[in-house]
Amino acid sequence: MHEVGHTFGLNHNFIASQLHTPQEIQDPVLGATIGLTASVMDYTIPNISPDKTKQGLFFDIKPGPYDKWAIQYGYTKFRMKRKKKQP
Ligand SMILES: [Zn+2]
Repeated sequence: MHEVGHTFGLNHNFIASQLHTPQEIQDPVLGATIGLTASVMDYTIPNISPDKTKQGLFFDIKPGPYDKWAIQYGYTKFRMKRKKKQP
């Protein structure tokens, strides 16, 4: 997933981000629907729960909200407003 981000022109996120609380990332449904992190360009470690009965996804399986925003921003055509001609 990370390398696909590079092919779309995304860079590494060296600042890091936090999308969910440590408790929330142990919800496998949340990880599958929203994602574990805001961006697959983060350098994350495997998500290993200290409580084996509450284990979320180990790794992201989909782009995060930031990735979607960045791709949309980078690949959406902008309409340029033309200046009206002066009479
Ligand atoms: Zn990379």
